[in-house]
Amino acid sequence: MDTILKEKLLNRKIHLSINFKFLFSYLSILVIVITVLNTYPIIISRNLVFRSKQNSLETQANQISASLSVLDSFSEKNLASVMSMLDIGNLARVTVFNSDYDVLFQESKVDTYIDNGSEALIRDCFAGNNSFRSQFKDGVFISSIAVPILNSGRIVGCVYLYDYDEYEGTIILELLNNIRKISLALALFTVMVSILYSSTFTVRITNLLRAIKTVREGEYSYRIPVAGHDELSQLYEEFNSLTQRLQKTDEMRRRFVADASHELKTPLASIRLLSDSIIETPNIDSETVKEFVTDIRDESERLARMSEQLLSLTKLDNNVVTVRTDVDCGQVAERVMRTLNPIAQQNNVSLSWDFDSDCHILASDDDLYEIILNLGENAVKYNVEGGSVFISIKKQDSNVKITVTDTGVGIPEHDIPYIFDRFYRVDKSRSREIGGTGLGLSIVKATAERHGGEIVVERNPEKGMTFSVIFPLYFHQTK
Ligand code: ADP
Repeated sequence: MDTILKEKLLNRKIHLSINFKFLFSYLSILVIVITVLNTYPIIISRNLVFRSKQNSLETQANQISASLSVLDSFSEKNLASVMSMLDIGNLARVTVFNSDYDVLFQESKVDTYIDNGSEALIRDCFAGNNSFRSQFKDGVFISSIAVPILNSGRIVGCVYLYDYDEYEGTIILELLNNIRKISLALALFTVMVSILYSSTFTVRITNLLRAIKTVREGEYSYRIPVAGHDELSQLYEEFNSLTQRLQKTDEMRRRFVADASHELKTPLASIRLLSDSIIETPNIDSETVKEFVTDIRDESERLARMSEQLLSLTKLDNNVVTVRTDVDCGQVAERVMRTLNPIAQQNNVSLSWDFDSDCHILASDDDLYEIILNLGENAVKYNVEGGSVFISIKKQDSNVKITVTDTGVGIPEHDIPYIFDRFYRVDKSRSREIGGTGLGLSIVKATAERHGGEIVVERNPEKGMTFSVIFPLYFHQTK
């Protein structure tokens, strides 16, 4: 109960933290985008309006100044007559000062007059500068300009123009309004999508986590349902295939332990039975004792062989490193022939061979010896009276092919896929009779594969079997 609660809390923590990170990153991006969206276009368009206002006001002020600068006398009357001829209809306020700061002309169309620093502007104007100021306030563009009126290089007055533009202000306000609406919709949409996405993602991560825990607790049959093709789905697939491998290895291990104990139990039981018979049979004749003791010796030899082979298999399983050197297959096979010859003679099987010279592979002498001997022994053991065994070593393209052919009892087609399994025997009683352990071929396969070899089994068209092991040819450097 406690662990379940802990697990739930952990899941929740992970969920929260991943969700939080996702949301945090999405929201940060969102805030940046919305801020930029709400400021940049407004600033740009406002500046554009300011610039156009400055241009148009400056043009008008310069025109007025030019028209007034030609006047001989700078009187209110003269000014009024010139001004009446000029087009100043679009301006909110036009004021003309003389050099004593007296207002000689004024025309105003607005009640609202915001003094955005006209005094400073006029002072600046009498200092000989065109002075402009503009602001955007409460949705209105308020701009003013003061331009000096020159007569024979002397400042005789100043034209002051004041512009009050609600129209362009409204456009900007509308733009701002629309951007705000878009931002709101964008924010809502992003938040919704990110919540949806981050929660789906975290649910999937949690699923994976749960699956890992389940498998860690030993339930190797657990699989995560895979949907979609994204990286997480690929992760699920990888997890499933890893679990499948684990399950297979676990099954193999269990089966191996069960088989091994069974295989070890059988000879031990026979030894016990035979010794009991010797002990418990009164007046047992020496001939029978000899026979029983011979059987006991055979069984113990089998036990010894089996433990040796089990040890070899464990080494192969553990990938114990063996030093790989340049091995001349012919030389190793000749050694095998010397061992195999007496066994073949004993079984009344003829043994022949044909070895190409210079067939080098990268392996270890002992491992290759083990492979050829095991295959050769099987070919003799599972043969018939008067049968034959032929062993060949041939160079084939960039490979070396070692073939062991016999004219023996053969292996039924349906047994072939299993003969490399540990403890698998086709004819159990025959194998036991001749001291087989059912481990030889699995050792051959694992050893060959360890040195980059591949093993192929075929039923001969007439009778018997052909086992071939193909190794990559090693191009050794001749000195
Ligand atoms: P064993 O120690 O029983 O010989 P192996 O792993 O070497 O174990 O062989 C597995 C089984 O494959 C043997 O029990 C035998 O039935 C069969 N087998 C192997 N080689 C041959 C062969 N050349 N001809 C017929 N059957 C064979």
